[in-house]
Amino acid sequence: MNQDKENNFTLLLSRIRQFIREEVFPLERDFLNRPFRELLPTLAEKRERVKSLGLWAPQLPSEYGGLGLGLIEFARVSEELGATPLGHYLFNCQAPDAGNMEVLLVHATPEQKELYLWPLVRGDVRSCFSMTEPEHPGSNPTWMSTSASKDGGDYVINGHKWFTSSAEGAAFAIVMAVTDAESKSAHKRASQLIVPLDTRGFRIVRNISVMGEEGSDYASHAEVRYEDCRVPQKNLLGPEGHGFLIAQERLGPGRIQHCMRWVGICERAFDLMCGHAAHRQLSPGVPLGSRQSIQAWIAESRAEISAARLLVLNTAARIESEGQTAAREDISLIKFFVAGVMHKVLDRAVQVHGALGLTDDTPLAYWYRHERAARIYDGPDEVHKAVVARSVLRKYGVDVSI
Ligand SMILES: Cc1cc2nc3c(=O)[nH]c(=O)nc-3n(C[C@H](O)[C@H](O)[C@H](O)COP(=O)(O)OP(=O)(O)OC[C@H]3O[C@@H](n4cnc5c(N)ncnc54)[C@H](O)[C@@H]3O)c2cc1C
Repeated sequence: MNQDKENNFTLLLSRIRQFIREEVFPLERDFLNRPFRELLPTLAEKRERVKSLGLWAPQLPSEYGGLGLGLIEFARVSEELGATPLGHYLFNCQAPDAGNMEVLLVHATPEQKELYLWPLVRGDVRSCFSMTEPEHPGSNPTWMSTSASKDGGDYVINGHKWFTSSAEGAAFAIVMAVTDAESKSAHKRASQLIVPLDTRGFRIVRNISVMGEEGSDYASHAEVRYEDCRVPQKNLLGPEGHGFLIAQERLGPGRIQHCMRWVGICERAFDLMCGHAAHRQLSPGVPLGSRQSIQAWIAESRAEISAARLLVLNTAARIESEGQTAAREDISLIKFFVAGVMHKVLDRAVQVHGALGLTDDTPLAYWYRHERAARIYDGPDEVHKAVVARSVLRKYGVDVSI
């Protein structure tokens, strides 16, 4: 980045940081203590404000109204937004919409873009991604039962999915379904199809209670059924049989964004932890931070968060310069490492706050509940550790792939 660009970007980051602190932190108490639905009008207003400040959809190219940022730049924005549970939603770069936009940008036909991408870009609608099935391991995404068979000019979808996040209130789903069960390549059996959620045969069975919360709207995880759910063949996204390959394409960038959001969570938790250690007094004039065990948590957390950030930015730079395939080991490494750092930092921050850490007076307990999932979705820790270890062992002349 040249000096002018770097200066402009630094300015952009500080504008975002200021907005988050001054205009979003004050919304957190309501977000944490009231039903999400009640907050939607306020959030809609705040989203308009983000648009008016010219900060909307930072991950999108400028011709789509975004900020046209590169992977490393957006990673740094994602960290700023991660400081609050509302950040990504208010800037229209929340999962699963951000991932769906990315896929639609590359693979949608002009008509699909008009019908599905543009409304998402404008923030008029939400979407969901429907791949995982209760009967099959999500960690092996090539194995699923949901099928889409051709009938006349349509696909007829039948299947059972769960953890279709944000399905409630969404306008459409991108669904992974088997279109060629006989294909010799397990990676070419499934396709991605766009299903408007008002299509007959699409049914939300329930919002699953996750860590004690059923959630609603954007903050929900649905179990869904596709029962003779018929969509026109033109709703196929990309070539038939390319569902898995399309999903793979966005794994690298998606993980950079998640990991930097987690670094943002870590920094906020660290700030809350240090603030509490400095001001909570064990007895008059004796701050909590005077205790060695607390100091060790502060020092360890500082080192781990800084290491995590550098690893993620390094991986983003490698993806940009050498491509996703070359960076595969790094991508898996950051996925489990940064999720682990986040867990340690959140746990320490909760502990330092004592009973206050378990309340919803700070975002710590919310993150402690919600971010446990980070070690499971987008590939469980164990799968990523295996990818890293196998890649390392290959350099020693051993192939331990199963
Ligand atoms: C909050 C949340 C949101 C989600 N959102 C979505 C969504 O929007 N759309 C969607 O389609 N899916 C979504 N998912 C599903 C997610 O992708 C899967 O949970 C994930 O892929 C793991 O699959 P699984 O739960 O079936 O676990 P399984 O694959 O059954 O694995 C269970 C456990 O076995 C172990 N394990 C698995 N494989 C191996 C291995 N090779 N070696 C060693 N140990 C292993 C791991 O410890 C793992 O946690 C979401 C999940 C969560 C928790």
